[in-house]
Amino acid sequence: MKITDIKAVYPQYKRVVPSWRTHFWQIVVRVETSGGVSGLGYGGGGVAGVEIVNRHFRELLLGRDVNSMQDIAVVWDDLYAASLPYGRKGLAIMALSGVDLALYDLLGKAEGKPVYEVLGGAKKSKILAYATGQDAALYHQLGYKAHKFPHRWSGAEADYDTAVATAARVRELFGPEALLMIDTYMSWDHAVTEEMAKRLAAFNVYWYEDVLTPDDLEGQAKLRPVVEPTLLAGGEHEFTHFGFADLARANALGLWQPDITWCGGITAGLRIVEIAQEAAIPVAPHRGGEVWGLHLIAASDCANLAEYHADHIQAERDDVWLDEPQPLDGYIQLPDRPGFGVTLNEQIL
Ligand SMILES: [Mg+2]
Repeated sequence: MKITDIKAVYPQYKRVVPSWRTHFWQIVVRVETSGGVSGLGYGGGGVAGVEIVNRHFRELLLGRDVNSMQDIAVVWDDLYAASLPYGRKGLAIMALSGVDLALYDLLGKAEGKPVYEVLGGAKKSKILAYATGQDAALYHQLGYKAHKFPHRWSGAEADYDTAVATAARVRELFGPEALLMIDTYMSWDHAVTEEMAKRLAAFNVYWYEDVLTPDDLEGQAKLRPVVEPTLLAGGEHEFTHFGFADLARANALGLWQPDITWCGGITAGLRIVEIAQEAAIPVAPHRGGEVWGLHLIAASDCANLAEYHADHIQAERDDVWLDEPQPLDGYIQLPDRPGFGVTLNEQIL
């Protein structure tokens, strides 16, 4: 299949609060081919990502043949190299992720297979979902068996009490077996994390997420033994297999959370999982309940664990993708349609 066109669009989000985190600046990428099959991907980088795809990457992609995973990997390496002076991490790789995922969707559609089949077949039949958000009672009622709540350190001593009170309430609600995690979004520091680990020890927390900034590899490596047996998790702000290889060398984290729509798509995801296997680090992709991560979780050695942003359950929001698989009783079934198995909501473009 020869690439005849490629176009990225920043959707016309209507329900956007003034926060980057609402829609994560997600972009849609569509690739067209000579055979008539097209592919759709989801990347990051907002209007800047759109410009990178539509100007720089498009030039490099028109006329290229893509018929296999190997072809997609070659495209990835070429776009990475071409964008290297301004890329390597951040916006350029978020844009590249959208291209990579569109090519995987294309390959699946051309072969009439879901992406996890293209990747060699599902190793898991259903995926355990964990609910991220603040409404533990709702998630428990909906049947979730795993939950992650946010906690922000504001500098007040009382923040220790809110963490302990929330962990106690969630543990009681979900029972002793459930996975319970805390995302601090880079608001704890070494001393706070050390004290939290003491105060939260009774609640068997599976991981503390993003306690420091992603550039503080040394600081995170020092904290790992301090919080044991709880894991130090992170990686949603890291990019490509090169970035994760640095994490491995620094011994910085006990669980990796690459975002497949940001870190470089499925191509980077596969390489990251391979490095993680060698380093014996479990991988649980950021937003893994969305199809882009879900197919990789299903077909690779990722942990059987997918993040679902459950705070969206009852919120009014813009749907970019229709027919996304929804967690039922705490598990997500794999879609069996070709490609990633979702339909683009054209109304939002
Ligand atoms: Mg997070």
